[in-house]
Amino acid sequence: MESLADEDSAELRSLLDALRTVVGASNVITDADQLASFRTDWTRRFVGSPAGVVRPGSTYEAAAVVKIVVSAGHAVVPQGGNTGLVGGCMAERGAIIVSTTRLNVVGDIDRAAMQVSVGAGVTLAAVQEHAAAADLSFPVDLGGRDSATIGGMVATNAGGMSVIRFGMMRAQVVGIEAVLADGSVVRRMTGLLKDNTGFDFASMLVGSEGTLGLVTAVRLRLVPGREAMVSLAIAVPTLGEGLGVVRGLQQHGVIIDAAEVIRRQGVELMATHLGRGTPQEFGTEKVLFLNVVTGRDESGGESGLSDRDLRALTDVLSGLRESPDALVATTDRERRSLWDWRERQAEALSARGIPVKLDVSLPLHELDGFEGSIDALVEAVCQGAHVHVFGHIADGNLHVNVLGARDEPEERAIEHAVLGDVIERGGSVSAEHGIGRAKRKWLRQQRGDADVDAMLLIKRALDPANLLNPGVLFGG
Ligand code: FAD
Repeated sequence: MESLADEDSAELRSLLDALRTVVGASNVITDADQLASFRTDWTRRFVGSPAGVVRPGSTYEAAAVVKIVVSAGHAVVPQGGNTGLVGGCMAERGAIIVSTTRLNVVGDIDRAAMQVSVGAGVTLAAVQEHAAAADLSFPVDLGGRDSATIGGMVATNAGGMSVIRFGMMRAQVVGIEAVLADGSVVRRMTGLLKDNTGFDFASMLVGSEGTLGLVTAVRLRLVPGREAMVSLAIAVPTLGEGLGVVRGLQQHGVIIDAAEVIRRQGVELMATHLGRGTPQEFGTEKVLFLNVVTGRDESGGESGLSDRDLRALTDVLSGLRESPDALVATTDRERRSLWDWRERQAEALSARGIPVKLDVSLPLHELDGFEGSIDALVEAVCQGAHVHVFGHIADGNLHVNVLGARDEPEERAIEHAVLGDVIERGGSVSAEHGIGRAKRKWLRQQRGDADVDAMLLIKRALDPANLLNPGVLFGG
């Protein structure tokens, strides 16, 4: 088998041997075929060239691995499920990927505190199943759930579908254990809700994208589970009116667990991808998808809107320009099938090509202006491009995917046109995916010199040799 590692270098050979001593030979990967899935990211846009992948099986091993790699002057690149969308876990030449997949211990659920401690490599789906078995729920959900790990989600401060109700990953983290660049372990896993005793490392590590430490375990808050929900799809002429529906329902006391939107182009894309006819309730402009909480699930996944919620819906929809009908899904099967139209957008786009992928947030009053001008903005720099916009409407978070750029300059021109507009409107160039390698040149423009310089001071204090995920977040 070909080896990607430059093992003819005696220095690298001795580093890899030292790592094998810590984690066992089978957990140090240098074979090119086996490295393939660690080298290329989910989008297929980024390809790294690591010297090897190491899979520690405990915090003790993880600490030893980091210490050995950093002492040898090599970079450490943390990798969880490799579902990140900004190239954050792609390794530069000579770097060692530290894969967390063996840090997969799932702790017992603390029912009194409604918390659970899990290893950083545990997948989101595994946490969701574990919580559900105890009639509880983990309140962050996203399409990459079968592979995305809790460590990766902490490192990127992932958002997803239920931010409208429960907040992002940061809001779910009540404790963290992490290995710093010098191999020391910081641990704050008691889950105390009140503990004002100095700096909160957990907060600092959330969203740090592997640049400040390797997260090895996380304590998570859980929320009551077994909720019954009804899913709705409603045609809306504009994002502003879609947002109006969400706020109107909330003001009537309706509990909304998810509020998402796709455009006509996304409906056409999915009709082909799913091989389905388009429901007439989707209308012609935009479709708003909602999950409405209807109470406790007492009947095996079947639910219905209460009279109060129905009255609220009728009232709110009658205020829209064209008073549309809502498509209502009441069983688990119907709900999953309805959500395919929104949740499988990324998969459908990926099947068509490698899009320019942008993940932006805007002040809510700018949503319509941004969405209304984006097609012309992109067309001006890339004729014939296909612009797909979908996302988390109540968070002001839109995913913009553009297919059809002919070369890199055109891709760059699209990014500049769209992100430039986002900044002018007071938005953010990265809502929930992070900066990674893809957006680092925008960091200073977005955050300003004072912010970035302060971040760099922290980075240099904790990682003086710049060996924790170098090239990510900073250095654009
Ligand atoms: P990776 O991709 O492995 O790594 C991501 C970053 O975190 C890298 O910088 C890496 O170095 C760092 N990292 C990973 N593990 C650790 C660790 N233990 N310690 C320190 N640093 C670490 N994201 C959203 O926010 N919302 C969505 O709705 C959403 N939907 C998605 C849908 C699909 C189909 C896909 C493929 C992705 C989606 N994502 C979404 C993006 C992705 O799932 C998240 O960014 C997720 O948090 C990444 O987790 P991961 O384990 O795959 O991390």
